[in-house]
Amino acid sequence: MRIVVCVKYVPDVQSHRRIESGTVVRGEEDSINDVDENAIEAAISAKENHGGEVIALSMGPAGAQGSVRRALQMGADRAIMVTDDALAGSDVIKTARVLAQAIEKISSEGEAVDLVLCGVASLDGMTSMLPTALATVLEWPCLGGASTFGIEEDGVTVSKFNDGFQDILSAPFPLVASVNDEVNQPRYPGFKQMMAAKKKQIETWDLANLPQGQQLADGDCAFTQVLEAHERPPRQSEHNIITDSGEAGKVLAQFLKDNGFAAGQEHINE
Ligand SMILES: Cc1cc2nc3c(=O)[nH]c(=O)nc-3n(C[C@H](O)[C@H](O)[C@H](O)COP(=O)(O)OP(=O)(O)OC[C@H]3O[C@@H](n4cnc5c(N)ncnc54)[C@H](O)[C@@H]3O)c2cc1C
Repeated sequence: MRIVVCVKYVPDVQSHRRIESGTVVRGEEDSINDVDENAIEAAISAKENHGGEVIALSMGPAGAQGSVRRALQMGADRAIMVTDDALAGSDVIKTARVLAQAIEKISSEGEAVDLVLCGVASLDGMTSMLPTALATVLEWPCLGGASTFGIEEDGVTVSKFNDGFQDILSAPFPLVASVNDEVNQPRYPGFKQMMAAKKKQIETWDLANLPQGQQLADGDCAFTQVLEAHERPPRQSEHNIITDSGEAGKVLAQFLKDNGFAAGQEHINE
């Protein structure tokens, strides 16, 4: 089985994230997107149980190799970074097209790719759209937001929880699936694995390496436009806590009125 796991390098959530000219500043304190470690763990476990190969794939700036390096440390066999200046500021659609091209190139090398695994969302863009966009470009089924994940003879079955319901879905290979952080407990690579991963080569591809790289280079990077991006205003420090001694309703109504949230006085005494 050939498994590709898509991983992203994102500004560390603990770090002071900044936005300059509409894009997130990268390369300062970045780390692998948390839930992508769950996707890597699912891929490595699948390989351990069913044999095959795990290939980590990422699209990002030159300095974003940390994401695929982490995958190698956890046990991936190969790591591919797609980097090209023409891709800076790419939106979900462009990213999906580039990753799909890379997956087609991997498939054309030998055995076809059976499964693409992703995390359910990145910690910076947070659109959760990439896995489905990738499946659309590949014209493969997509199982999204899995809390449990099982491989069968000819496909995958997942379950996910929505509003107290457990949905169980399955799809045949080849397919794309995204997992959340309930699906497993990512292994923590030991010193030996870290050292072994250090020796492994990370392949770097640019658009010229991709089958339709020229079209991708010529096409727009984003169909979305960031009109404005600025720091979120600080939360209001002053809080009004209303202790209910029977008048809370009236006090709240008065507060809403005083702060322009409600109409005339006449209703407050009802
Ligand atoms: C603050 C912010 C807001 C944005 N808003 C939008 C928007 O509204 N619309 C839009 O089209 N683009 C948007 N983008 C751009 C978008 O983030 C990128 O295109 C990104 O590569 C894919 O979207 P995502 O990060 O939301 O991924 P998600 O769909 O949230 O990520 C899900 C999974 O996809 C995989 N993945 C995501 N990106 C990559 C990658 N580059 N390489 C390998 N695997 C990957 C990972 O497994 C990840 O866990 C935004 C970016 C930022 C920083």
